[in-house]
Amino acid sequence: MRMKREPGVQIKTQAQLALMHEAGQVVASALRAAADAVAPGVSTADLDAIASARIGAAGAVPSFLGYHGFPATVCTCVNDEIVHGIPSAARVLRDGDMVSIDCGASVGGWHADAALTVGVGAVPAGITKLIGDCERALWQGLAAARAGARLSDVSHAVERYGIVEDYVGHGIGSEMHMEPAVPNYGKPGRGPVLAEGMALAIEPLLVLGSADTRLLEDGWTVVSEDGGWSAHFEHTVAITAAGPWVLTASAAPPPGILAGGQVIVRAAQPAMQPHPAG
Ligand code: MG
Ligand code: MG
Repeated sequence: MRMKREPGVQIKTQAQLALMHEAGQVVASALRAAADAVAPGVSTADLDAIASARIGAAGAVPSFLGYHGFPATVCTCVNDEIVHGIPSAARVLRDGDMVSIDCGASVGGWHADAALTVGVGAVPAGITKLIGDCERALWQGLAAARAGARLSDVSHAVERYGIVEDYVGHGIGSEMHMEPAVPNYGKPGRGPVLAEGMALAIEPLLVLGSADTRLLEDGWTVVSEDGGWSAHFEHTVAITAAGPWVLTASAAPPPGILAGGQVIVRAAQPAMQPHPAG
């Protein structure tokens, strides 16, 4: 989402977080299926169709389709495209490309949002490093999403060289984009105190070269100003008494991605204090 700030962060009940977790597992499945299909000769519209089928089969509702008129189930961004790319049958992946896939879904009106980036065939070592750095940035941020921490502790944990500042993460729950904005940079110890029942979509965008961005004439696709390639990772995380619960992850991160932090990735809901609905 675009940067903005307003007060008020929604607190979810256990039952509402359970629905967000259901949605999160659908998103995880859709993203995994689409990522597994990435190969030279596959179009970004093919990836959209795969994710759409997964969400439909699960009885969930795609969050992106029709959102402010967005025409697809996922956003796909190839190479220098940073965020909000529209899938197209004309955009055929080639060996050496990289592609990010961003997907949201809701169950019972409660949303989850996640993204990942993969190489297409054989990619240069610098691109593999960019992808790994971006995924590490995400998991550092997730590990910082703890009750009692300040919002900018998350931002600070994500921050690193090459972060795009024009687009930020967001609160999520009964709507896909809610307060607070979650910048991917900043000093720690600022912003709202994180509390049990809050949920955040943390989503670093990392580019090679300048972090300046430009909007294409389609009104959606954001590219890097100087053509540098970009990676995007995102998870939806709930703040719980037991720690950060990554609602959109179906498995622990790959080895070496999360160092020195603790997160919860599991099917069962962690124990929480009861909250009033809100
Ligand atoms: Mg997203
Ligand atoms: Mg998002």
